[in-house]
Amino acid sequence: MSPLNILFAASEAQPLIKTGGLADVAGSLPVALSHFGHDVRVVLPGYPQAIERALPLHPAATLQLPGSLEPIQILEGWLGARIRLYLIDVPGLFDRPGNPYTNAYGSDWEDNPERFALFCRAIATIALDHADLNWRPDLVHCNDWQTGLVPALLADEGSRPATLFTIHNLAYQGVFDRAAFDRIRLPEALWSPEGLEFHHYFSFIKGGLAFTDWVTTVSPTYAREILTPEFGYGLEGLLLHRTDRLKGVLNGIDYEEWDPASDPALPQHYDADTFDLKKINKLRLQQEMGLPEDENAFLFGHIGRLVEQKGVDLILGILPGLIKQQNTQLVLLGSGDSRLEQALRAVAEEHPDRVAAFIGYDEQLAHRVEAGCDCFLMPSRFEPCGLNQLYSLRYGTVPIVHRTGGLADTVVDATPRNLLDDKATGFVFNQPNEGALWRAIERAIEFHRRPPVWWEKLATNGMKQDFSWEASAIHYLEIYRQAIDEPSPNPLTTID
Ligand code: ADP
Repeated sequence: MSPLNILFAASEAQPLIKTGGLADVAGSLPVALSHFGHDVRVVLPGYPQAIERALPLHPAATLQLPGSLEPIQILEGWLGARIRLYLIDVPGLFDRPGNPYTNAYGSDWEDNPERFALFCRAIATIALDHADLNWRPDLVHCNDWQTGLVPALLADEGSRPATLFTIHNLAYQGVFDRAAFDRIRLPEALWSPEGLEFHHYFSFIKGGLAFTDWVTTVSPTYAREILTPEFGYGLEGLLLHRTDRLKGVLNGIDYEEWDPASDPALPQHYDADTFDLKKINKLRLQQEMGLPEDENAFLFGHIGRLVEQKGVDLILGILPGLIKQQNTQLVLLGSGDSRLEQALRAVAEEHPDRVAAFIGYDEQLAHRVEAGCDCFLMPSRFEPCGLNQLYSLRYGTVPIVHRTGGLADTVVDATPRNLLDDKATGFVFNQPNEGALWRAIERAIEFHRRPPVWWEKLATNGMKQDFSWEASAIHYLEIYRQAIDEPSPNPLTTID
């Protein structure tokens, strides 16, 4: 089959800029697709960190777009060795401290609608080959609300590329007031319930869901969950309407970056055959985090954004019980909600020999936590895919997860049957509450007291799973072809 030109549009990508799992996907999936011979190019906003890390760059084109008084430069460079990169350089909108979406105090930038609308306009311009880059994509792969306007902007264009929109987390929708819609000067026709209007507000993500040729989410279970009111946040009706064009494709992980046998962040390398060496990472992690160094301690870990979704409050809730257990320890790495940050600091100060918390973002430490712990706690209330449980499996750190979204699709519960069949990889509980999490932890503690060979079997079952990007890339390519072969009609021209 002929190679495709694919423009991959996202608001973050490893190793240039990252706040969460989207960056891992945008850094890895294009590479996996390129291994099949396709020309995949990534487009990102020109945040200062991204520009600095992507150097050398050269100006490839200058655009004049509605919504910006200053001319917009497209800077061209490389994302890694294989992927051509376009950075949309608009200093007035993107050259700021803080993270891509929020200021240093954690509040959303007030002009986020303007910032990401301009980003979408630039993407659409490249997509139509109107940017003088001399390259025309067959398909634009959009990701999350920050790119949601792209399918809407392209819908009316005669010879547009196909579009696919991936939902990485439906909880973030980019909803603003009508005044923002006016300020951005979008065509008035888009303001309708079939378009971007969402209960009298202006929704970026609806542009992605309603106008795109195909919609994907990052796990099959989450693709089903978002069709229900509980997980659909009012968009379940629209998603139900699009089910024939909706699919869940499980994320992979970067097996080079996350490989305990070669990870430069680790004090000690190991693999499934040398599992015993993993405990050296435990001892060094305990040392690094100020916990008593004891290879027999049962060490739990958690990494994540400190938001309600991730269920850190549930971990805080079961902590008194965990501390009562003999010789258990917990390492936490996260940042986010300031009340959760304070609560974690407080328990760590109260129980310095049992709990260690690092409040902040530290990529290298994340690798060492994955390698050093025995068990990884992931009690997310919902989880579109989740990457940390996949890293845990890869590092032989047994995950304890709530049966939801991608967690349900990737971790196999240690039931007697699954253990017997060599399928078990973790502990799975059904309800996102403290009682259910605690019972799963008790099962893990009890299992860990068995002869060590049992634990090693469970952990190495996980290490042998294959969650590489190749399988996901094949799925995406199938969907890309369908999107190209059978475009969806513009929903605004098909209203009865
Ligand atoms: P989400 O995208 O909802 O944040 P995922 O599990 O899909 O959740 O991805 C989270 C990614 O961010 C993982 O790569 C994880 O290791 C990383 N991460 C989250 N918080 C931190 C932190 N405080 N320090 C280092 N890495 C973090």
